[in-house]
Amino acid sequence: MQTGKIGVTTENIFPIIKKFLYSDHEIFLRELISNAVDATQKLRTLSNMGDIKGELGDLTIRVSVDKKKNTLTVSDSGIGMTEEEIDKYINQIALSSAEDFLEKYKNQSNAIIGHFGLGFYSSFMVSEKVEIITKSYRKNAKTVKWSCSGTPEYAIEESEREGRGTDIILYLDKESKEFLEESKISSLLRKYCRYLPVEIAFGKEKEWKDGKEVELEKDKIINNTNPLWTQKPADLKDEDYNKFYHDLYPTVEDPLFNIHLNVDYPFNLTGILYFPRIKNNIEIQKNKIQLYCNQVFVTDSVEGIVPEFLTLLHGVLDSPDIPLNVSRSYLQSDSNVKKISSHITKKVADRLAEIFKNDREQFEKKWDDLKLFIEYGMISEEKFYEKAQKFSLLKNTDGKYFTFEEYQKLIKDQQTDKNKNLVYLYATNAEEQHSFIDAAKTKGYDVLLMDGQLDTHFINHIETKFKDSRFTRVDADVIDKLIEKEASKESKLTADQQNRLTPVFQSQLPKKANYIVTYESLAESDNPLVITQSEFMRRMKDMSALGGGMSFYGELPDSYNLVVNGNHPLVLRISNELEEKVGKDLSKLNEKIKPLSENKAKLDKDAKDKKEEEIKQEEKDRIEELTKKITELENKKDEKLKKFGAENKLVKQLIDLALLANGQLKGEELTKFVKRSIELM
Ligand code: ADP
Repeated sequence: MQTGKIGVTTENIFPIIKKFLYSDHEIFLRELISNAVDATQKLRTLSNMGDIKGELGDLTIRVSVDKKKNTLTVSDSGIGMTEEEIDKYINQIALSSAEDFLEKYKNQSNAIIGHFGLGFYSSFMVSEKVEIITKSYRKNAKTVKWSCSGTPEYAIEESEREGRGTDIILYLDKESKEFLEESKISSLLRKYCRYLPVEIAFGKEKEWKDGKEVELEKDKIINNTNPLWTQKPADLKDEDYNKFYHDLYPTVEDPLFNIHLNVDYPFNLTGILYFPRIKNNIEIQKNKIQLYCNQVFVTDSVEGIVPEFLTLLHGVLDSPDIPLNVSRSYLQSDSNVKKISSHITKKVADRLAEIFKNDREQFEKKWDDLKLFIEYGMISEEKFYEKAQKFSLLKNTDGKYFTFEEYQKLIKDQQTDKNKNLVYLYATNAEEQHSFIDAAKTKGYDVLLMDGQLDTHFINHIETKFKDSRFTRVDADVIDKLIEKEASKESKLTADQQNRLTPVFQSQLPKKANYIVTYESLAESDNPLVITQSEFMRRMKDMSALGGGMSFYGELPDSYNLVVNGNHPLVLRISNELEEKVGKDLSKLNEKIKPLSENKAKLDKDAKDKKEEEIKQEEKDRIEELTKKITELENKKDEKLKKFGAENKLVKQLIDLALLANGQLKGEELTKFVKRSIELM
């Protein structure tokens, strides 16, 4: 037996391995199996080149646990190692400036392992002792056993092994007994090894016989050596892609589309991306794109490698050219990674354009599910916007789909306002905004349905892109004002009548929000009262709710306009009733106010011409007294108007109808409305 010291420049690498790499202990299995796969692949290559003659035999890699001995073993029938090779590849691990590096990357075991080629040594994260029993494929090679107990000392001796290959035997330490559990190993194999290119066996196939589960002779192979992304797209059908999707994720939904990537210049990349059908947000988060390196699973956090909007997609990417063992911030600045990212974006856009062109019907059918991804991409990636604007669709409230260009043509004649701006009308809720949509349609306008999760942002974005255009929600104003065309009609209500009506309506409006009463001379056929919310205010509030930083607007109370149609017969009827009931009283009060106001106006005017100190106290007192009297009388007027408003059922009824059309009439108020409606009948 020969002993020696492992060539580590740091005092002792083992405590470091154990201490710093704690969080990712489980990857030792991936590292060992990857080595076994490499050794097997090398053997195949040698055989293909004719350097090895004859049959290679069974190349299955076997993983086994022995609970009694506390061991976990990975065995391969690969090229094996000679004593010299063990010395070269296992003993001489050169660690230059190891301390610095470890300090910097102490939370990133992947980085450390990859950087130093510590793949094999990661086994010491979970073992108190590791043995290698290996026999090289070379003629007359002797079996060698290497063992090491987690100190820099190792031992090497001759041993026995049936045939060529390598066994790595881990004597698990006290803290790592979980790796003796079959279920634990099964799940790790599934996570890291399920698409490795060499068959991996763990245990035996089982079968139910006479109500009992019995073990069969046959090895249980845990991987698919020929995963779909390594196959030729021309040989594959939609069913194959769907099947593979379900193999990747435990979901019942079929994906919408798939994109098979196959790049070999200027970098190597294969993979399949899927546009998922989204049922809820949780599912998007759960099923992530998986990143592989030569079929070895590396990670499912691909941020930085694919553009952010594509992280919502599902599927696999496999590239030996992505530097996997470096930090995320390094990844993002790596030019190769940037190229990969923009290439994937381009491929995705091209594929969507192709589907749109070849099968628009299918594309439209899937649009509602697809839209989130496309809008997200268009908002966040300029390059993607450029391509997507040709196939991105707008859907109107009748469920019809249009490209941007088609839609522009459709609304051009009807919806250009007097300033030559094209006005895109949209609704965010077809039910709640029904009466507004209906009014717009009657007028010959078209209304878009923008009820998606990202539509608020998306509207803002495309508005900056479209020339001489603006988007206005269908309830942002009364119909004649939504798209202003010519000078408005004259109102049948006089300014005086309007002034009297304002407190009548104001007093009957709900107190929860702020309402401003305004008058418009609309058609007799339009609604008598309409509640609107300014486009600006609403968008600011929407943005604030979405966390767009407009928190100032979010804190303001809701503010609406109550627009009174000055030409509607019912409004005129209220005005007439007002005249009949309180007209005389109001006139009397006005007569009283008139001389007082005139008097005050005169005094005000005199005072204005004088300096503050020249005004006599007497004058000041007189002005104050007049103001008080006038206010009292005005308040009396107001009281009378409010009382009239409260007693007039029509006022409340019209307000409630306007609230109802906006979905703002609820609870007790709704009940009262129903009762009142019946009474009025
Ligand atoms: P890496 O795999 O990154 O080179 P490792 O420390 O995992 O680093 O392995 C070092 C070397 O040891 C490998 O490059 C290979 O030459 C040799 N080796 C490891 N495991 C095996 C094995 N199962 N069969 C043959 N050679 C192996």
